[in-house]
Amino acid sequence: MVRSALITGLTGQDGSYLAELLLEKDYKVFGLVRRSSTSNLSRISHLADKVKIVSGDLLDQCSLMDVISECQPDEIYNLASQSYVPLSWTQPSLTAEYTALGVSRLLDSIRRCQPAAKFYQASSSEVFGQPDESPQTEKTAFRPRNPYGVAKAYAHWMTVNYRQHYNLYACCGITYTHESPRRGAEFVFRKITRGAAMIKLGMANELKLGNLDARRDWCHARDAVYAMWLMLQQGRPDDYIIASGATHSVQELVDCAFNYVGLNWRDYVSVDPAFYRPDEPVQLVGSIEKINQELHWKPAYPFERLVSSMVDYDLKDLTDNRL
Ligand code: GDP
Repeated sequence: MVRSALITGLTGQDGSYLAELLLEKDYKVFGLVRRSSTSNLSRISHLADKVKIVSGDLLDQCSLMDVISECQPDEIYNLASQSYVPLSWTQPSLTAEYTALGVSRLLDSIRRCQPAAKFYQASSSEVFGQPDESPQTEKTAFRPRNPYGVAKAYAHWMTVNYRQHYNLYACCGITYTHESPRRGAEFVFRKITRGAAMIKLGMANELKLGNLDARRDWCHARDAVYAMWLMLQQGRPDDYIIASGATHSVQELVDCAFNYVGLNWRDYVSVDPAFYRPDEPVQLVGSIEKINQELHWKPAYPFERLVSSMVDYDLKDLTDNRL
C-alpha cells in the first residue's frame, strides 16, 4: 500500500528536504501551498512533477478540512509558520494566527476529517527562550522571549493536549538551528561557508562578521527531517528534542571552514560592530539523550561534516555560476 503524506511549508528549507526523503521512500506527497501572486517554488522546482501541490491556508479552517478530506494523508507534517523572529515583534497578531492558531485549526481538521493520521508539529527551541538549565531536555520549562516563541509554545501545548484528549497520534519535535545550502546567506553559517568559498576562488578578499564568541547548536536540515519522519513511525506518539547536542562558536565555525579550503581565517576575517546583536539570546543547546535512546537517532552530519559539505556546495555553486 502506498503511504501518503501532507506537508505544510513545503516550499521552505525543511519542507523541501522532507519531500525528498518521503519521495525516496515511495510516499505520495501532497504539499499545502498558499496562493500568492508571485511563485515561491524555487526550493522544490526539482520536485515539481513529483509532488502534488494543493491549495490551502492555515488561516482558513474550511480549506484545511477540504484538503485533508480530499488527500486522506496517513501522515501530516506541519512545517509552515511565520518564522522570522523580528517580524513577530512588528506583526505579533499575524504570527499568532499562523504559528499558533493555524495549529489549532489543523488539529481540529485532523480530528474531524482524518483522525487516524499521524501528525508532526514543528516546535522550536525558541519555546525555551531563557531556560533554567542547559542542555535543555523535553522537561525543561518553556520561557519564550518573543511573540514567535510564545506562538510556538501555544502550538506545542495544543498538540500535546489533542494527543491526550482526542487520542490523536500527534507529536512535537523541538528543533534547534538547522542549516543547509538551502538556507539564506544572511544566516551566519551560510555566510561563512560561502565567504570562505568566495575567498578561495578569488571572488572576495575579506569577510566581515559580528560576535565571534556567539555559540549555537547547529545540525543539518537533512538530519532534522529524518528525525521528524522517524517520530511518526513509532508505536506511540511522543515529543522529542532534535538537535546536535553540542554547541560551537562562530569562531570555531570560521576556523573549520577556512581550514577546509586551506586558508588561515585570521588573514581574511574582520569584526564589524554592524553585525553585533544588541540583545544576544541565551545560548541554547539541546539534550539528544531521549531521541537517541528511544529512536536511535543521531546526526549523520557532525559539525565538521556539516561545515565541509556546505563549503563543497558553495565552491561548486560559485564555480558553476561563474562559467
Ligand atoms: P540565529 O540568530 O540563530 O537565527 O541565526 P544567525 O545565523 O543569524 O546568527 C547566529 C549567531 O551568529 C548570532 O549569535 C550572531 O550574533 C552571530 N553572528 C556573528 N557574526 C554574524 C554575522 O555576520 N551575521 C549573522 N547573521 N550572525 C552573526
